[in-house]
Amino acid sequence: MTALTGTTDYQQFFIDGDWTDPSSPRTVDVRAAATEEYLGSVPEATERDIDAAVAAARRAFDDPQGWSRWEPARRREALERFAVALEKRASETATRVSSQNGMPIWLAQQFEGGFPALLLRYYSGLVSDTPQEETRQGVLGGRARVIREPIGVVGAIVPWNVPQGITFLKLAPALAAGCTLVLKPAPETVLDAMLMAEAAAEAQLPAGVLNIVPGGSEVGAHLVAHPQVDKVSFTGSTAAGRTIAETCGRLLRPVTLELGGKSAAIVLDDADLASTIESFFASTLLNNGQICWLSTRVLAPRSRYAEVVDTVSGLVSSLRIGDPLDENTQMGPLVSARQRDRVESYIAKGRAEGARLTVGGGRPEGFDRGWYVQPTVFADVDNNHTIAQEEIFGPVLSVIPYSGEDEAVAIANASDYGLGGSVWTTDPERGEAVARRVHTGSIGINAYVNDPVAPFGGIKASGIGRELGPEALHSYQVLKTVYLDASSAQA
Ligand code: NAD
Repeated sequence: MTALTGTTDYQQFFIDGDWTDPSSPRTVDVRAAATEEYLGSVPEATERDIDAAVAAARRAFDDPQGWSRWEPARRREALERFAVALEKRASETATRVSSQNGMPIWLAQQFEGGFPALLLRYYSGLVSDTPQEETRQGVLGGRARVIREPIGVVGAIVPWNVPQGITFLKLAPALAAGCTLVLKPAPETVLDAMLMAEAAAEAQLPAGVLNIVPGGSEVGAHLVAHPQVDKVSFTGSTAAGRTIAETCGRLLRPVTLELGGKSAAIVLDDADLASTIESFFASTLLNNGQICWLSTRVLAPRSRYAEVVDTVSGLVSSLRIGDPLDENTQMGPLVSARQRDRVESYIAKGRAEGARLTVGGGRPEGFDRGWYVQPTVFADVDNNHTIAQEEIFGPVLSVIPYSGEDEAVAIANASDYGLGGSVWTTDPERGEAVARRVHTGSIGINAYVNDPVAPFGGIKASGIGRELGPEALHSYQVLKTVYLDASSAQA
């Protein structure tokens, strides 16, 4: 089995542009998802370390000659250096993520190795190439200059499932806008975050612009409530998102929340699933089922129900389970024993509620180490079943029957969540008509791919605000109006 060569132990944090001693001897230890072996450690932040990181970000933001005041083109040069430094480490970053959380390596190369640099270039280009202010002729006689300014110090908190990709959904627009950041990675995936710190140091981002302090939910909560933070950007569970939203509500602090999902794959009666099976896999089971936007409820027309169940079950039973560092692996282990317990408890609930297990349901043979579960399909699922309502965050699909498009849309919409989704059809126009009726933040026809130019995010319990697209950039900016010629304006 391929593995990280040796272990990696970090002794310091990246704060204020430098490697900095921690205030406590405690460490965050990481184990490999596939082998349970020790991979490495980083210091665990205390509130004092968070305070030091926020103070550095504050100083960097408030510097009158600093990052937030630079011309966009100058920030673009610095972010290009950062992108190049990340690309030099892309292969190692992918390997670290894959080892830590079980993401298949070919996916880690795209999401974790390649996507961060792409996002840095997209956003720094966007800020450089589009005017960040405009002058409006007033109706009262004067003119108004409307200026987009960076919002300030951002507290960014990310989960373990796509640690680099999700981090750069926040970092890239925030840095390009002129914000400074304190990033708190999830404890399960801290080793890749340290590589990012090395890249930031090599790129000579000005001191304090990016600070990285790993730790658990308590230091995360301290960061969220910190008086010197201007905006919070969080990706994670809906439960944690609600707590963070309460804090930010009390503080009147802007917050972006990317939370859980339970999206629907609506298979229409004219679908040809066999010819789109690869994108069906990518839309429903990618990253071992550990992505928030996956379409884990498969809605199948009664007229073709048995055939759809067979196709989906055939796909899932054919998946190659294996070492995430093996290029041929389609399904790796889950991130942790805790996550496997969670997924197994949902499989037990599915059985107890009377759904029909067609594939999986246990642990794969030959994997006595690592947090593997068999990819699993339940048929005859009622949309009210727990496995159809709650986010499982593992490779478990529920196939739910429907009669007619109206019922399909009604079932898709009968969810607390509204994040992703997909429609499967040989008639793209019909697919779009159905997609428009689904209450969700984003939805694909015969595929689901987050393109950087288009906003991504949720409605209902899936969150507030959008990442990607110019919309994400705007969420790291505040609008300021300067009234020009105001004395000549008529009241
Ligand atoms: P989690 O909410 O437990 O943890 C996410 C991060 O938040 C971690 O860094 C954690 O330390 C921190 N955290 C937890 N509680 C906090 C609090 N009260 N204050 C501040 N920080 C806190 O989630 P998880 O189990 O690590 O990740 C899985 C969840 O993330 C799933 O529910 C999934 O749907 C969601 N997710 C959503 C998206 C999206 O874009 N919508 C993307 C990926 C994952």
